[in-house]
Amino acid sequence: MTDCILIDGKARAEALRTTVAERVARLKAEHGLQPGLAVVLVGDDPASQVYVRSKGEQSLAAGMHSVTHRLAADTTQAALIALVERLNQDPAIHGVLIQLPLPPHLDAAEVLSRLDPDKDVDGLTVANAGRLNSGLPALTPCTPLGCLILLREALGDLAGATAVVLGRSVLVGRPVAALLLADHCTVTIAHSRSRDLPEICRRADILVAAVGRPEMVRGDWIRPGAAVIDVGINRVPFRDPAQAALGRTRLVGDVAFREASAVAGWLTPVPGGVGPMTVACLLQNTLTAALRQARIAGEDD
Ligand code: NAP
Repeated sequence: MTDCILIDGKARAEALRTTVAERVARLKAEHGLQPGLAVVLVGDDPASQVYVRSKGEQSLAAGMHSVTHRLAADTTQAALIALVERLNQDPAIHGVLIQLPLPPHLDAAEVLSRLDPDKDVDGLTVANAGRLNSGLPALTPCTPLGCLILLREALGDLAGATAVVLGRSVLVGRPVAALLLADHCTVTIAHSRSRDLPEICRRADILVAAVGRPEMVRGDWIRPGAAVIDVGINRVPFRDPAQAALGRTRLVGDVAFREASAVAGWLTPVPGGVGPMTVACLLQNTLTAALRQARIAGEDD
């Protein structure tokens, strides 16, 4: 049995938020520039409302200019695009985040195609995906960036590591793989058509699970001592039948936590691992976007 180190995403996210807030304060004092984030929410999806509130609160706490546009569920494609184009032109706004999913009558791909890639702090435009995959400076999707920060902190230099990414979504799997490749890992992307997932996963020094399948990755899929990043957020019924009967649910990741913690060298818990990093990385991206738009060199550039 290995001693598994639990990666504390909550503490790392708090440290990142503090660093961003310090840089924002310096930017204001030295350049009179206040990074601005606009979040656009269409409709009243309860989970999206919680995320949007948290993004607004955390950007304000970091000293940023923060605006939330709450649009009615029946907002038209034309009205949403008009807002995006207004925000593209607004000099007080350096980052724009369109909360997904959009209501079904709206075309998210078309809306994103109208967003200025330099303000795309979610890193979801085709331009930013292309930049990332071409090794050019990009705004990187927030959850993948959070995974990379946690891995670098746990392992130091990632060069030469064998990495397996489970999942190939545009939001998580693909950008995580691109970031690991940029850090000189040997990367395999596995997905629902891959053959013999346990065997593929057992090769990994770094295993990133982003499949959205509760506890799919078992202990015997993991190479002893590997670093395991669990991106999954899945709501499942309580184990206790009485609680489950009351409709009570709990959060689990894509990795069977208890089994994995007996084998892995490093492991992110769910909750408290990757999750808290996402909004902290959004703040980091907004700061990066403001620095680039003002052509001010930042520590990361
Ligand atoms: P997604 O768009 O549904 O993509 C899931 C990926 O997993 C797909 O590439 C799919 O393969 C693959 N997959 C599904 N079932 C599989 C199986 N049985 N075997 C192998 N591969 C399988 O999901 P996502 O947006 O990437 O999110 C993944 C998970 O991360 C979800 O639990 C989500 O809630 C969570 N998440 C967390 C955060 C955070 O802040 N921590 C942020 C975003 C997402 P195919 O391409 O072949 O269909």
